[in-house]
Amino acid sequence: MIQYPIPWPNGARCACAITFDMDADSLIHISRPKDSHNRLYPISMGQYGPMVAVPRILETYRRFGLKQSFFVPGWCIERYPGAVEAMLEGGHEVGHHGYLHEDPTAHSHDEQVDWFDRALAAHRQVGNTPRGYRAPVYNITQGVTDLLLERGFAYDSSLMGDDIPYLLDTAAGSLVEVPVHWGTDDWPPFAHYDEIGYLMPVKSPSSGLAAFFEEFEAHYEAGGFWHCIWHPFLTGRLARWRQVETWLESILESRDVWFATLGEIADHVRSISEAGEGTVRRDSLPYYTEPPSVTAGRRGNG
Ligand SMILES: [Zn+2]
Repeated sequence: MIQYPIPWPNGARCACAITFDMDADSLIHISRPKDSHNRLYPISMGQYGPMVAVPRILETYRRFGLKQSFFVPGWCIERYPGAVEAMLEGGHEVGHHGYLHEDPTAHSHDEQVDWFDRALAAHRQVGNTPRGYRAPVYNITQGVTDLLLERGFAYDSSLMGDDIPYLLDTAAGSLVEVPVHWGTDDWPPFAHYDEIGYLMPVKSPSSGLAAFFEEFEAHYEAGGFWHCIWHPFLTGRLARWRQVETWLESILESRDVWFATLGEIADHVRSISEAGEGTVRRDSLPYYTEPPSVTAGRRGNG
């Protein structure tokens, strides 16, 4: 059961979005700045994204007529402009994902503004004006939500507060939140990255992807929103993507689904709310203005 269901366009039963975060080798440079240039294996693992996986993914989308969203750090746009131009030429959305995949919680507000605007400039270099944002490692802060509103962004996609999109109100204005969660993120089943402290047993394509497909069935039954947060260097690998393609083909043939970019989904949610055609859940910030003060050793009223 979904408490505040959203009516999807043309009576579709479920909204769907596969989003790819093309981080490329930004991850090793931000985490090991002293010697990242000489760590060739992680560089090559990241470069697999723009060089090998993105062309493969774009070809599948072209064949199925899908327009989807990508999130790309500004540095990756400058380093791999061809991959990003191919996304834009295919009619896909490219959202803001920091500059060098910097964690907003690790920087002062002024530093964060610098990173953010440097990334925006990289987007503009390829003729793109991002309307959506996903924080690197999902670590959005209240400073960043303010910045998104100041810079005219329509939505964020970093929080985990619901199954379906909702409105996020702050003192500075209102964003649409297009929520994520770890159950449809491909790092847990498929990533193994010792250099950044991420050591997971890599699952087989079928068992890793099964978790995402089970999420789809639950959302389809409930009239919800199936949203994957994938990475070209992980789910874009040959064996995994082959299974995604086969699955996508059967879903597009047999189910009543609305595949869209997150920008289209955010616009739809905003318009439903403004037209009063449904009740869209509203959440508001701040959750807290300081860490909760809890006294050690005391429990409840007893
Ligand atoms: Zn990322």
